[in-house]
Formats: sequence, structure tokens, C-alpha cells
Amino acid sequence: MAEEAMVNDSSVQDQWGQICSQLKNEVGDTAFESWLKPLSIGSFSDGVMNICVPTRFMRNWVITHYSDRIHKIWEKKNPAIKNINFVVQAAREETPSLYNPTCRSLLKKITSTPAPQNIYQSGINSIIANNNDGALNDSLSVPLNPQYTFENFVVGKTNEFAYAAARKVAESRNISFNPLFLYSGVGLGKTHLMHAIAWHIKQQDPTRNIVYLSAEKFMYKFVRALRYKDTTAFKEQFRSVDVLMVDDVQFMGGKDTTQEEFFYTFNSLIEEGRQIIISADKSPADLEGIETRLKSRLGCGLVADIHPTDFDLRMGILNNKAQQLGVELPTKVAEFLAQKITSNIRELEGALRRVVAHSQLLADKEITLEMTQDVLKDMLRSYDKRTTIDEIQKKVAEYFNISVKEMQSSRRARTVARPRQIAMYLAKQLTSRSLPEIGRKFDRDHTTVMHAVRKVEELIVEDASLAESIDALKRTLEA
Ligand code: ADP
Ligand code: MG
Repeated sequence: MAEEAMVNDSSVQDQWGQICSQLKNEVGDTAFESWLKPLSIGSFSDGVMNICVPTRFMRNWVITHYSDRIHKIWEKKNPAIKNINFVVQAAREETPSLYNPTCRSLLKKITSTPAPQNIYQSGINSIIANNNDGALNDSLSVPLNPQYTFENFVVGKTNEFAYAAARKVAESRNISFNPLFLYSGVGLGKTHLMHAIAWHIKQQDPTRNIVYLSAEKFMYKFVRALRYKDTTAFKEQFRSVDVLMVDDVQFMGGKDTTQEEFFYTFNSLIEEGRQIIISADKSPADLEGIETRLKSRLGCGLVADIHPTDFDLRMGILNNKAQQLGVELPTKVAEFLAQKITSNIRELEGALRRVVAHSQLLADKEITLEMTQDVLKDMLRSYDKRTTIDEIQKKVAEYFNISVKEMQSSRRARTVARPRQIAMYLAKQLTSRSLPEIGRKFDRDHTTVMHAVRKVEELIVEDASLAESIDALKRTLEA
């Protein structure tokens, strides 16, 4: 009886609150938001406290990583609690915080508007409606992906700043940063965040005219306008834009007339107090082939980068995507994937999708570690030995005692041309890049690469010492 009294008291909630803040300090915000925040207190009897966990996946994770610690802290606070039991039960919150483990602390600092829940369906409709109601959006904007919402964006240490900045721009009535410049390597969430901003703004105010397009599309439209001597109409299109988003501006590198037009559009929109959001694969200062004045304009608002993922974020993403796909992902499998597939989120998602598809096609075959390893065998093999063209150029140049610059130059002297051909050959052999992609890295077209590959294949047969060199290079590159 005494025990019951001790735990049925509202003090238990208080104790849980205290335990949570202690754990938060110990494990950090990201882990806390992802794994511990979604827990809630259940019933208590015979010295056993039940704690509710929204999914089986989370239960396994929490038991492995946190149960001892929770038990220890709680025992100290309340000796009546002898044991802790984790039970799977949907969270009480309407939207489980697991689904959107936002970096609340950071967000609170810069925004006070609460995030509206579930803009999802209405957001889609309003965008579609808006896309249909004028020629403007039809011709300029590209359709948005309904999956790319803030709700579906998993936040971790590596992307929390970019996420908070995106949310702030989406939620503010007044312009806070202009432009917002997002940058990162591929597959890390830039496009996702831009679409999320668009959905959110649309949801709040369907009358706002949002244009999202890639830099390539901007270029294409502009060049076409030039060809048809119709640049006035082109410029006119941007006049009523409230929010302009241009994705992947690195593609404007070296395209001077397009840049000039973009610079003009950019400046006039900013002057009129319209919001601009830009993404690229590098920071404004590091963009190649972009005019200095444009670079400095691009960097004059808020620049936010997304870093490569860390293990916790990859686990969070797998957890989230598995839930969306409605599958149980054993912790072992998730850990395996999160350890192996570290390049970017797109590839991580792709791997998970393959495993899930495989299990569903085989009449709901259970997802196991063995099955995962088997399904992803080829992918992991090529992944393990993945080398980049940059690395190949560097190693080959070193080996032949020339510089990478020379290798990419137009020099045709044998001392430079031969190593260049070998590097092209190795790029074809060791990477999954296409001939044009390889060519670009050497400032050549694909026929030159094709020729180089053939040439080196011949040489390998004719020249044993060269064959040996190439073999040695291959081994160092694959090591
Ligand atoms: P980028 O534009 O940087 O190349 P994307 O925005 O296209 O990357 O993201 C690649 C994929 O990874 C998309 O399917 C996207 O939904 C997903 N993704 C990226 N970041 C996250 C995240 N934080 N949470 C959930 N999914 C993400
Ligand atoms: Mg993108």
C-alpha cells in the first residue's frame, strides 16, 4: 500500500521529469529528443514501473542503451521502484515527438511560433491549387514533393542549424534572413528543407506566390527567352514572386549571362522585400565560376550548412522511415545499416527500401541481419571499395610525379598524357561514374575518356612494367 501511495502520487511525474532532465544532460539533446522524450509513464505494481514506448524498435534501442541508467537514477530517487519494464504502446501525444525530434532548444532561441501539426494534406492541396491558378507558377515553379515536409525531416546535430534556420524563414511573417543560403554535399536534405519551407508558407497563407526551381531550370528558361528575344516577359514573371527558391546554384558556374540575369532578379526581389532561398553544394565563397559580386550577395543573409550525417542521425532516420513504411526494423539491422551506409541520406533510404521491398515481395519474410547483408551484398561491396575520381587523380599524379593541375591541363606531352589516360582508365574501373562524368573531371569529353580506356587496355597487354604499375596503383586505391 505504501508503495502504491509513493508512486501514484503526482510526485512520480515530477520524478520522471527530473530523471528526464538529468538524462538530457547526460546524453545530449539529439539522443534525448529521438529516444527518451517519446517515453511516458504507465502503470505501477509490485515494485515494477511500466514505461510506455511508441514502437518495438524504440523499445529495443532504449533497453540496450538507457534502461540501466534510468533504473539506477530512479532507484536512488524512489526506493519503492524495484524494476522497470518497457511496454510498447502508442505515445499519448498527437504527433509523437519521435516523428519530429526537433531541436527545440535551438529553435526556441530564435522563434517563438509553435510548429503547427500536420500541415500535410492541406499543404498539398493548396500548392496544387495555387499551381493551377495562374500561368506564372505553371511556367516557372517545379512541383513539390509531398514527402518533403518539416514533419518528415529528422533533426540531429549535423543538420539542426539548417533546420532551425529553415523553420525560422518559413514561420516568420517578416523577413529575418535574406537570402537564406543552404549548402551541403549531395543527399543531405537541402531540397527537402526548401520544399518544407514552401509547404509551410503555403499552408499558412495560400495566396503567397512561391516559386521553387533549380538553377538549371532558371538557366533553361532564360536562354530560351533570349533565343525568342523575349527577356522582358521573362523578367516580368518574377515581379509578383513573394518567395523565390533556387536549388543547386552551383550549376550557374561559368554561365555568365545567366548569372547576370539572376543577379538582376535577385537584387530587385531583395529590394522589394521578397524572401529568397538558395541552395548549393558549397559555401558562397567557395562556389566556382560564380562572379565575385554575386558570391558576396549570396552570402549576405544567413549561410547554413548541413554536415555529413552522424550515427545517431542515421539511426533516427532509419527509425523514422521504417515507421513510415510500416515495418518493424530490428535494432541489429538498423545498426548495421547505420554503420555501413554513411555517405548520405539518399543512399541510406535506398538501402532500407531495398530491404523492405525484398521482405515484402517474399510474402512478408521477416527482416533479419542475414537477409539484409544478402540483399545489399552488391551495393555494400561496391560501397566498400568506392574510390573517388579526385582520389584517383591525386594518387596517379603522385605516382608519376606530376601535379593534379597538370593532369587536368591541356598539355599533351607524353609525361602528362600517359598518367592522365591511366587515371581515366582507373576511374572507369574503380568507380561507377559514367564516361561524361569522368570526362568532366579532366576537362575532357567522353570520347577522350573512351579512347584513353582503350589505349590503356592495349598498353597493359604490351607493356609488362606499365601493367605492374597500374596494378600497384589499383591496390593502393582499393586498400
Ligand atoms: P540534397 O538536396 O541535399 O541533395 P535531398 O533533400 O534531396 O538532398 O535529400 C535526399 C533524400 O534524403 C530525400 O529523400 C530526403 O527526403 C531525405 N532526407 C534528407 N535529410 C533528411 C532528414 N533529415 N530526415 C529525413 N529524410 C531526409
Ligand atoms: Mg537537392
